[in-house]
Parts: sequence; C-alpha cells; structure tokens
Amino acid sequence: MPTYKAPLRDFRFLLNDLLNIQNYGNLPGFAEATPDMVDAVLDGSAQLMEEVIAPLNQVGDLEGCKLDNGVVTTPTGFKAAYKTYCEGGWNGLTADPEYGGQGLPHVLGLAMSEMMTSANMAFGMYPGLSHGAYEAIHAWGTDEQKKLYLPRIVSGEWSGTMNLTEPHCGTDLGLLRTKAEPQADGSYKITGTKIFISAGEHDLTSNIIHLVLAKVPGGPAGIKGISLFIVPKFMVNADGSLGARNGVMCGSLEHKMGIHGNATCVLNYDGATGYLIGEKHKGMRAMFTMMNAARLGVGMQGLAVAEIAYQNAVSYAKDRVQGRSLTGTKDAGKPADPIIVHPDIRRMLLTIRAFTEGARALALWTGINIDLANKHPDPAQRQAADDLVALLTPMVKSYLTDAGYESATMAQQVWGGHGYIRENGMEQFVRDARIAMIYEGANGIQALDLVGRKLPTGMGRLLRRFFHPVEQFIQENVAGPAGKDFVMPLAKAFARLQQATAYVAEQGLKNPDEAGAASSDYLRLFALVALGHMWAQKALVAQAKLNDGAQDRAFYETKLVTARFFMERLLPDTGSLLAKVQAGGRTMMALDAANF
Ligand SMILES: Cc1cc2nc3c(=O)[nH]c(=O)nc-3n(C[C@H](O)[C@H](O)[C@H](O)COP(=O)(O)OP(=O)(O)OC[C@H]3O[C@@H](n4cnc5c(N)ncnc54)[C@H](O)[C@@H]3O)c2cc1C
Repeated sequence: MPTYKAPLRDFRFLLNDLLNIQNYGNLPGFAEATPDMVDAVLDGSAQLMEEVIAPLNQVGDLEGCKLDNGVVTTPTGFKAAYKTYCEGGWNGLTADPEYGGQGLPHVLGLAMSEMMTSANMAFGMYPGLSHGAYEAIHAWGTDEQKKLYLPRIVSGEWSGTMNLTEPHCGTDLGLLRTKAEPQADGSYKITGTKIFISAGEHDLTSNIIHLVLAKVPGGPAGIKGISLFIVPKFMVNADGSLGARNGVMCGSLEHKMGIHGNATCVLNYDGATGYLIGEKHKGMRAMFTMMNAARLGVGMQGLAVAEIAYQNAVSYAKDRVQGRSLTGTKDAGKPADPIIVHPDIRRMLLTIRAFTEGARALALWTGINIDLANKHPDPAQRQAADDLVALLTPMVKSYLTDAGYESATMAQQVWGGHGYIRENGMEQFVRDARIAMIYEGANGIQALDLVGRKLPTGMGRLLRRFFHPVEQFIQENVAGPAGKDFVMPLAKAFARLQQATAYVAEQGLKNPDEAGAASSDYLRLFALVALGHMWAQKALVAQAKLNDGAQDRAFYETKLVTARFFMERLLPDTGSLLAKVQAGGRTMMALDAANF
C-alpha cells in the first residue's frame, strides 16, 4: 500500500525563506500566524493526513460510494475520519472568525489542502466543495444567509456543493435549463436535473447546502439570464435547526474512472425551495467566486497526487533491483543494482520533483496574493494582488493538473509492470489525477480564459503584474553569482514568452481562431516561465543559505540540483512551445469536419 509523508521541510522553506510570511504581520490573520502557530498547523495537519486520512485512500477506491433509496453511504472509515477532521478545527482554518473560523492566512489553508489531497483526493473533495460554498455565501450572501449557513459550514456540521452541469451543458452554461420560479414569500421553486455533482449526497454531514445555477423565467437568454440559489437538502429553520426534507434527491451515482470515494451524483430538483444569492440574473458573477477558489483547489489536486506518486516511486526505485549501473556495479551485495542508479529512472523522478516543488512554490505564492487581495489595507495593493491571482488561476488549474497527471503516469512507469497492478496503488494515482484536467472548466477552457479574457484585461494590466517583477528579478540578478545557471535560462524563456504574447495578441485580433489555436501551448509556455521564476528565486535563496553556513546543507544542495535540472531539462520546452504557438492555426483549421 502506498505511504505518505507530508513534505514539511519544503513547506517551511517556502513559507519562511521564499515567501517570508513573517513580513506580513500587519495583515489580519498573519499576526496570529506566528512561527509557533505555523509549525503547529503544519505538524498537526501532517499527522492527521498521514495517520488518519491516507490509510483510507485505497479503501475508498476499492469500496466506492453506495446509493440505496436516495441515501449515499461513503466508504468505510470516511465518516469517522471526517469527524476527527472537523473536531480538530481543520475545516475552519482560514474561515472568517465571525462565523467560527480561525481566520488564518489562505496560504496555510493551501498547504493543508495539498496534504489532505495527497493523502486522499476523494476524501478531500468533501471539505473542498464546502469551502467553495463558504466562499460564495461569504462574498454574496445577505447577512441573514451568512448567519444561518456559514457557522455550520465552517464547523463542518453541514457541507456544500456546486451545481452547474446538466446533461446537455457543461462548458456552455448559457444552455442550462434548470428553472427557478419566484414564489410569493420571496423564495423560488427549483426544477431541473444536475449531473456530475461532486459530494452531492453523502452521510458525512447532517445537511448539504447546494449552490445551484438556474434561470428565472423571463430573464435574458443565455449566460446573462442565470441566477444562483441556495438549496438546502433539509430546510433550515430560523434558529438553524433542521426542518422538512427539501425537493432534491440523488437519482444515481456515476461509475467512474477514479476518485471512487467521492460521490458523483445526479441530483433531481423537483420544485425544491431555493433562495436567491447575489443579484437576479447575475449568478455567474457569484458562481465565479466559488469557481476561482475551486480552480486553485483543483490545481492543487494535480500537484498533490504527483507528490504522493513521487514519494512512492522513489521508495520503489531504491528498493527494486534490476540490472547493473551503466558505469559499473553499485551494490555488489545484491544480485543487481537498485533501479535508482539508472539515468532514465532518475530522469523521471527528477522531472516529477522539479514539477512538484516548483508548482508548490507557485501555488503558495498565489495563496499569499489571495491573502493580499483580501486583506491588504491599501486598495492599490489589493487590486495588484487580485490581478495577479486572476492571471495565475488558469495556469495553476491547467498546468498543475496536466503535469500532475503526467507525473502520476511517470511514477507508475518507475514501478514497471507492478505499477499497473491495482493492489500496489500506483494506478489509482493515475486514475484519480485524470479528472482534475477535466472538471472546473476543462483545461482547454482555462487556456482560452488566459488568452481571451486575462491577456486583454485593462490593455495587458494583469500581464504586467507578472512581467514587471520577473523583468526586475532578471535585471537585478543576472550578473550575480547564480546568474549564469539560474537567471539566464529564465531570461531566455521569458523572452520567448514575450514573443509568444506579442504573436497571440496580434494574430488573435485579426482572427480569434488563431488565439484559440495557440492557447494551450501558450498557457504551458507561460506556466513554465512562472515555475522558472519560482525555481530561480529558490536557487538564490538556497545558495545564500549555503553561503551563510546553514546547518541543513543537504536540503539546500538538493534544491540547487533540482533547480538546475528544471533549468536544463524542463524550461527548454519553452522553445518548442514558442515554435508551436508561432506555427499558427491554419493547418489546424484546414480540414472539413467530414475529413476528420
Ligand atoms: C467526476 C466529476 C465530478 C464533477 N463535479 C462537478 C460538480 O461538482 N459540479 C458541477 O457542476 N460539475 C461537475 N462536473 C462536471 C464538469 O465540470 C464538466 O464535465 C466539465 O466542465 C466539462 O463539461 P462537459 O463534460 O459537458 O464537456 P463539454 O462542455 O461538452 O466539453 C467537451 C470538450 O470540448 C471542449 N470545449 C467545449 N467548449 C469549447 C470551446 N468553446 N472552445 C474550445 N473547446 C471547447 C472542452 O474543453 C472539452 O474538452 C464533474 C465532472 C466529473 C466527471
């Protein structure tokens, strides 16, 4: 059975030495995040995830969820583990203290969520969806709605879901048909069918608060006529106690490739009572609050699964003996050398490691900027951070899940045939990681979001939030001692990104299909530069620590080797990606549909 050890040393390096979270003490929540508190959160979370949540990962995969007469039972152990998780206060770690949360920085919540997802992705989705519902109600709910729903969502007593997808519409929500008919008392009757609803029905909580997109008759057609509703599974009385069952039932559970421990439900709404949240017909705006939080969460899933897959690939590579090293026997006491001596095995392991550690830095940097966007006293700083998060979100969602899936497959490859065998657990990582590329806006849609929405915003304002600091970093460090190995490669890749950006902007204006054709390769190029920026900074910090005579030399030396591997082996892909972007979309669009 696979094992998991939370990468605490790396979290500490990133939070303390790279992001310097101790410098943000003037922001709400950060003052409480003293070094002792950060240690307690990291250590406590690691212990819970390693000892309680991770052992249920394979159980959840093998058992799956069961539906009986509208009632869904989660796999053995999930309910008790969820109770332990909630009792530890983990569900409200970053939530608003006004509703019972601990108000700690979002960046710590991301660290905890990575650990939970590595330990058990299917389990982590239950609190993950609740967190999205919390965000939407917190941002858009009335005071009354917040008081009624948030404390119990924060404590974990109730959970949340997000209901967008219908049988005939996923990406194109303008097509949705679920109807919301206004009632005399101000509520709405919701009727329609939602499919693929994660955590849509289960036995972990006493109530489920569904957030549902629906159309109020007579509103504008398409996406502009969508509203968002709170639809509780059980009606909620004014004092928060539960009333009658509402008209929403789980019609069936999907049989699916992975995340078997998470219930993916068809939900039938049959005149269910719902309450408008946010403005009528402006539901997409409110839903985006939830979707942006969820997109980062899904990006973390790619990274998290890659991390546990890596750990188990490393231990296998040290243990499994096959063949002799090309440069002569390394372990004469054994009939063959451990496969970790082989360059190709090292190529795979280092590729995963350079990805996970770079991605973790990028995700936590995004997390810090979410905190700044929410909490900085200066509105200009809030705006700058918000812009950066908006720019990075499609990259975190898309690149981290693409590379996360590729990493899971590589880790499986390290196990050879044994990686294909179910009981060893490696193939589960591949199956689980696959969905993250699809849901929360398929990755191709994230690329369109980057190219079509984020680049043009404010005549490139979002872009400048990233380009300027990178330019500054390069200028300040290229002539320094680490310049040649770590900053020059970044400068080269950054120049490619600038060329690609100019190409996409220019060609896309003439013909939108050109922007569409370039979008996925452009996003990947951009994300690699973003990771390159992280790795170059980390290399500089690690070098400085070594120069200062740091104790933990092996850790910093390993960082430098991994940084160098990233610069030599992964970042050069920006060259071929630029060539693909500049190849244009003519050939892609040349064939008639009939000729495919
Ligand atoms: C296990 C699981 C859990 C899920 N959980 C939830 C949930 O909790 N709540 C929820 O509401 N939904 C959920 N979903 C649904 C998921 O978000 C959708 O499946 C996803 O958004 C894609 O929609 P679709 O399946 O209808 O694909 P389609 O929209 O039909 O897309 C098919 C393909 O076409 C591409 N495409 C579509 N339009 C365009 C375009 N304009 N330009 C370029 N390419 C395009 C897409 O990228 C995709 O590759 C879940 C799905 C699964 C499988």
